[in-house]
Amino acid sequence: MDESIGHLPIDHIVILTGAGISAESGIKTFRDHNGLWENHPIEKVASPQGFVENPELVQNFYNLRRLQLKDVEPNKAHQAIADFQKDSKSKVTIITQNVDDLHERAGSENIIHIHGELRKIRHLETGEIKYFEGKIEKYNQSLWRPHIVWFGEQILNSYEIREALNSATLFLSIGTSGQVYPAAGFVNQLHSLGIPCIELNQEKTSDLFEHSFLGDATASVPTFFSQLRHQ
Ligand code: NAD
Repeated sequence: MDESIGHLPIDHIVILTGAGISAESGIKTFRDHNGLWENHPIEKVASPQGFVENPELVQNFYNLRRLQLKDVEPNKAHQAIADFQKDSKSKVTIITQNVDDLHERAGSENIIHIHGELRKIRHLETGEIKYFEGKIEKYNQSLWRPHIVWFGEQILNSYEIREALNSATLFLSIGTSGQVYPAAGFVNQLHSLGIPCIELNQEKTSDLFEHSFLGDATASVPTFFSQLRHQ
């Protein structure tokens, strides 16, 4: 990262993360794979219609994603955020579109999962949500579904998100393509209020970011937070 970040208002840093922050841990993104998520067309495995058409395929898909969590570890980008959260006086809120648990396992707190969590399942009739580590087997797949927000469904925790955005003094977007709404609209909202918005990604996704630090998250995120500590 050659560019200096200057002096940034860090009272309340709101960080939006996407699949790109977990890519170097070995969890694939989907925009980088022609709209396929682990070789499946996204609408087949991430939509209510897909679930109705082929519940077994969808349950197996999330069973595998859930099992995959046991083989991956948080990377330097997750760790840099968690370390900053621990050491700094700033309030830090993480809004993640990711359904993995790598922010939690890096030691972060104050994490809002807007698209659900692989390690939770939801009862189809009662709406009960519980932690779950294993596979949803065929015999109970008509009772429980992954606690994942599929395309066309309402995001989770909208009240907490609104509260966080309303008090943000700095907005960081890390490893997200900015194509999935409403998260993609956060930068419009905060930029129009004059809040500095910065992205760290392999590609530039919007002109609304004051700085776009391009590169791999495991390199750019630790460098960025190191600069923030010393600003
Ligand atoms: P996306 O797949 O649409 O975009 C990923 C972005 O990350 C791209 O802009 C890409 O350039 C960038 N990127 C890729 N590798 C990177 C790296 N090493 N360092 C920095 N940036 C990198 O992801 P999205 O915007 O999060 O939207 C996808 C949706 O799919 C999410 O909402 C999520 O629910 C779901 N998803 C989640 C996971 C996960 O939980 N880890 C993985 C895949 C998809």
